[in-house]
Amino acid sequence: MIRDVELQCRCGKVHGWLRGASPDAVNRVVCYCDDCQAFLHHLGRADLLDERGGSDIVQVAPSTISFDRGRELIAAVRLTPKAIYRWYASCCKAPLGNTAEPRLPFVGIVTELFQRAPSARPCDEVFGAPRGRLYGKFAVGEPPPGSVRPGVRLMVCMIGKLLGWKLRGAAWPHPFFDRASGEPKYPVTVLSTAERDALRPLCGPRPARA
Ligand SMILES: [Zn+2]
Ligand SMILES: [Zn+2]
Repeated sequence: MIRDVELQCRCGKVHGWLRGASPDAVNRVVCYCDDCQAFLHHLGRADLLDERGGSDIVQVAPSTISFDRGRELIAAVRLTPKAIYRWYASCCKAPLGNTAEPRLPFVGIVTELFQRAPSARPCDEVFGAPRGRLYGKFAVGEPPPGSVRPGVRLMVCMIGKLLGWKLRGAAWPHPFFDRASGEPKYPVTVLSTAERDALRPLCGPRPARA
């Protein structure tokens, strides 16, 4: 089933839509990488990580995402000067999407954004279950099964989606970048080395708490 899905930050000020969502149109994965963990700790949103430090993420084409309320509250942080852009709602620290520059057209969205609107449906129903798990070597405690070396099918699916979006011109309109200039539409800050390093003890890889 294909549907339009309402997006809403935790406090409701930032609102938007994901158009044409279905399990085939997106790629849902759980990412255990230390950068995803560090980002949510930086926001004070470790509540969104699972017990092994995983982020439940749905990757979508940029052109399928738009925000219609609270755009003035959108901001991004980069963990290092070259790292990906991690967009969030400055009102309530809800993650809004992870992106590279628009020439790599994808937005990776932590599933909370799909769960706060009144019309929200369970993610398993809208997107299907996660196709796989990534970067388990950074997990807190034992890496989940299959997460250290992602399967070939998962990699083929991810690369196939990205290529398809690129070929179909699905980078534009981009929810976070201006088409004419190619520049970010909203404020971006870059963490200092000290700020980035201060997040490391909070993240994996490390043993689970006793
Ligand atoms: Zn908010
Ligand atoms: Zn990650």
